[in-house]
Amino acid sequence: MTDAVRRPDPPERMCPSTPATNATVFLGMITPAGRVAYVTPQMPADVALAVAATDAPVESQVRLAGPCVTSRCGFWTGEHCGLGKRLADSYQEAVGPAEADLPRCAIRRSCRWYAEQGRAACAACSHVVTDTR
Ligand code: SF4
Repeated sequence: MTDAVRRPDPPERMCPSTPATNATVFLGMITPAGRVAYVTPQMPADVALAVAATDAPVESQVRLAGPCVTSRCGFWTGEHCGLGKRLADSYQEAVGPAEADLPRCAIRRSCRWYAEQGRAACAACSHVVTDTR
């Protein structure tokens, strides 16, 4: 008889900019200045849907997170999130020197952008509005 080593499952990656139809987490509010005010501790997406006004797309008012759908998303390159990469490339110079400079968000341990791009993704993240119509 052999002792099987049970390895932990890899964490499910979360998309930090997902439409309401896929959302499970209320990540933050969009401020009048167009920045994200992150919500911590973690709150369910239902709370965001309840506080959003009905005369504009919810994705223009709040940021929502949900399970990364990989190949079912147009940004998926086959290996990583192309949107997270593009954003991180644009904000490399804005990356602060310390972990303490990162925004306090509720999904960092599972965030797809952070896992693939590191702190540059977080530097870009607060500027992202999912729906800009
Ligand atoms: S702040 Fe960083 S870890 Fe948090 S959702 Fe944005 S990219 Fe992901």
